[in-house]
Amino acid sequence: MYDYKLGPDFAKQLDLNDALSHYRNQFHIPKNKQGSDLIYMTGNSLGLQPKTTKKYVNQELEDWANLGVEGHFEAKNPWLDYHTLLTQSMAKVVGAKPIEVVVMNTLTANLHFMMVSFYRPTKTRYKILIESDAFPSDKYAVESQLRHHGFDHKDGLILWKPRKNEDLLRYEDLENILKTHGNDIALIMIGGVNYYTGQFFNLKQITTLGHKYGCLVGFDCAHGAGNVNLDLHDSGADFAVWCTYKYLNSGPGSLAGCFVHERHAYNTDLNRFTGWWSHNKKTRFKMRDEFDVLPGAEGWQLSNPPILSMAAIKASLDMFEEVGMKKLTEKSKKLTGYFEFLLKQLGTDTIKIITPSKPEQRGCQLSIQVKNGDKNLHHKLTEAGVVSDWRAPNVIRCAPVPLYNSFEDVYRLVEKLKKILSSK
Ligand SMILES: *Cc1c(COP(=O)(O)O)cnc(C)c1O
Repeated sequence: MYDYKLGPDFAKQLDLNDALSHYRNQFHIPKNKQGSDLIYMTGNSLGLQPKTTKKYVNQELEDWANLGVEGHFEAKNPWLDYHTLLTQSMAKVVGAKPIEVVVMNTLTANLHFMMVSFYRPTKTRYKILIESDAFPSDKYAVESQLRHHGFDHKDGLILWKPRKNEDLLRYEDLENILKTHGNDIALIMIGGVNYYTGQFFNLKQITTLGHKYGCLVGFDCAHGAGNVNLDLHDSGADFAVWCTYKYLNSGPGSLAGCFVHERHAYNTDLNRFTGWWSHNKKTRFKMRDEFDVLPGAEGWQLSNPPILSMAAIKASLDMFEEVGMKKLTEKSKKLTGYFEFLLKQLGTDTIKIITPSKPEQRGCQLSIQVKNGDKNLHHKLTEAGVVSDWRAPNVIRCAPVPLYNSFEDVYRLVEKLKKILSSK
């Protein structure tokens, strides 16, 4: 797609021509003991801290110090409705309508709350379909939902698996599962971008297929939000959940996002777990009224949220609002394409990239299998100043993040890998 060239000068030139290169300066880049920047490739685990985050969090600390409880109404950004300050820009990031999005709780908690509403098993239709290599937390969550409803979690779980000697999942295999078991499946719950392979699924295709067989469909977009164009509304998915500490750079354990499709926004018959924050804002503090649920995703909130975490999310989303997902994904494709180009120079005997090669089927992450690679290889990379992620049995995951990783980062990373491999 791009005409990549070898050598360090080409990397420098790509950075010079990159309209987003100045964003790197707006982040704290972790450094080694000598004070030079590490090559940080783990934005898929924990995104880096924007330099503005401190200011946003301090604002709330000061308002709390000066105003006490009045901060709910009198703070610069009144806490009572603070979450609504995040809605517009979060909706844009995930391609949703504002009524479909809310920031609340943490990721796995949201997954459970969504399943309270959208996993409604009957005696004959009770199974859950997930991808075979789902993120462990998601697998544990769906298994416990099955048990919670009195089903056996082994019998109740259907796995969408790669074929023998393959790494990626095929849609025709999903279709075959549905042809055979479609009427038994209550819920399809897939990681929108698989955390291990980096495969970005066609959410619309999966949803359409699932709905055709009468299943509800939800996605865990932890590895998608802020990384790829999710177009959640158009996908037609019933729900989605994601965290904000990976590509959304909002700090360890920060609050999570939740999407409920507009078609469910006014459905008060849906079973759900509620709290005072899902109650009509106008009468919330009368405290004596019958429960009156808010429309849209807000109606799934339970608690008044931690404002300090929301302030960190606001700092990050303000940056996403400024850049926009379009420019971000354009750079991302170029950056990851360059990474792939350089890795291929190391030889396909040595390196196998298990992430799809088609740009529309992946985000920024590449999952790399190194022949005879082991934990020691990862250790050497770490010693050489590369922060990457090792997943047993033999995969190194690297995510060049377009907001703060440079083309030079990618160049230097591959040079270091080359050096380590040739000294073996
Ligand atoms: C990161 C991640 C999680 C982590 O869940 P938390 O509840 O935030 O601890 C769960 N699922 C997926 C797919 C993830 O990528």
